[in-house]
Amino acid sequence: MRIVRFKDAAGETVATRWGVVEGESVFETDGPGGERTGVRLAMERLNLKAPAQPTKIICVGRNYVNHIREMENDAENLPAEPGLFMKGPNALADPGVSVPYPAFTREFHYEGELAVVMAAQTAAGANVLENVLGYTAAIDLTAREPQRNDLQWIRAKSADMFCPLGPWLETDIDPFDATVRTIVNGRERQHGSTTDMLFPVKVILEYITSFMTLEQGDIVLTGTPEGVGELHEGDKVEVHIGGLGAPLTMSVGDRRS
Ligand code: MG
Repeated sequence: MRIVRFKDAAGETVATRWGVVEGESVFETDGPGGERTGVRLAMERLNLKAPAQPTKIICVGRNYVNHIREMENDAENLPAEPGLFMKGPNALADPGVSVPYPAFTREFHYEGELAVVMAAQTAAGANVLENVLGYTAAIDLTAREPQRNDLQWIRAKSADMFCPLGPWLETDIDPFDATVRTIVNGRERQHGSTTDMLFPVKVILEYITSFMTLEQGDIVLTGTPEGVGELHEGDKVEVHIGGLGAPLTMSVGDRRS
């Protein structure tokens, strides 16, 4: 099932709405994964929004061995537990967004990732996979010098619009065997598989919820495969997750002065 969050293209509705996609139609629902209201809309008319309304975005760093190696971390001394960091809800951005090149960095990087969105509040002991609403693509935008130099990664990872997400949620993706590909200006830069994760999705969710309750709508980014790299003004990025059916896209806007 393909779950979308949207406004109509005319922008008349203030609140966003949810629905499920069937062919060229969207059937509105009374919430994410909820009951159908009877309203049917044409997909092409809709303005798709990031398919989640999180209280927080939890991210895993260093989850693919080849990415650990390329970042010159010690690949012989792999992490024993998922290394986590956080983005605020302010970082969330819609599919197709143009993100201005941040003024505070000269090293603005993409990281294509599989993202998980929760359907329900999930605490320790829960069957975590049963509480997943769906899977989608995310771009973990990163400013590398602040990541190296700041006390914490708030500016490096959680500036406004540093987490494009979408274009929709797919419930039928196998998170343990999905490809993750990133294409920049038509050239493939990342091509990984979730089979290469050090910590698979179930382990990540159980680890997070062992000390932190995930709320309905919360997002978990599962790490990036090798091939991360710099973005420049005007670049166009696509992240393809196997089984999602369409890429998440974004572009880089002019540098903020
Ligand atoms: Mg990342």
